[in-house]
Amino acid sequence: MPEITIIPLGAGQDVGRSCILVSINGRNVMFDCGMHMGYSDERRFPAFSQINGGGNLTKYLDCVIISHFHLDHCGALPHMTEQIGYDGPIYMTYPSKSIVPVLLVIPVDLHQVINVNGDLTIQPFYAGHVLGAAMFLIKTGGQSILYTGDFNMTPDRHLGAATVLPGLKPDVLITETTYASTIRDSKRARERDFLRKVHEVVKNGGKVLIPVFALGRAQELCILLESYWDRLDLNIPVFFSPGLAEKANQYYRLFIGWTNENIKETFAERNMFDFKHIKPFDLRTADSPGPMVCFMGDSL
Ligand SMILES: [Zn+2]
Repeated sequence: MPEITIIPLGAGQDVGRSCILVSINGRNVMFDCGMHMGYSDERRFPAFSQINGGGNLTKYLDCVIISHFHLDHCGALPHMTEQIGYDGPIYMTYPSKSIVPVLLVIPVDLHQVINVNGDLTIQPFYAGHVLGAAMFLIKTGGQSILYTGDFNMTPDRHLGAATVLPGLKPDVLITETTYASTIRDSKRARERDFLRKVHEVVKNGGKVLIPVFALGRAQELCILLESYWDRLDLNIPVFFSPGLAEKANQYYRLFIGWTNENIKETFAERNMFDFKHIKPFDLRTADSPGPMVCFMGDSL
């Protein structure tokens, strides 16, 4: 079997700027092109200078594959295409392409086998995690590599669990391990705790401000609060600050097929993202007395 070379240009032993360069059967594929959010100098970008001895990227790379829209997986794309100069194909799923504000991308469907060139093919699989997140299988010369990016094996409120084709046995698996060895509190316990605290504050006439920075987490919290409000028949107002996060909500509506079975089923009678209790924030209500809950978020 020919040699497979894997070079982490970012993210190895670190969280942020995910970028893995693989060479397989004489082909060169880049998985993700992320940004490190902890730096503002050159260190926020993957080590592009390590590719092809700093030479031409378009000639060297067969393609770039983006696993999902989080900036630590795609944030360095504009730098790569506009500053360093890369003109070759970039693949990502349809929801990712809609949300990632970069144009030079070829959208792909789940399980679709895409022929990049020659016998190099790529194939995406559902990863959970965030809307449109995918794991990618690349194949060439009879060998294969599966790259996961972030993935979730248990469904959450709005997305399903990661799946690949049964019996899939890649020669190499490159997988995200950020929380692999961390034991986290039970999600249920954390959610109960959160709802109890929110309820306690509004019951006493207070206002709750909830900062939501990560797209996806915001939707999870909205669904959580919405169903709690429904169950207890509460009529305390809940607001969502207008802005990108709310705009992103539209994508969840548009790509409802990428969410989990539960949400897909209820979609027939009511799109779960058309919230009954959660309304867009209106400046006039900012000073209104009395309890309220407000989701504040202006970034993806
Ligand atoms: Zn992520």
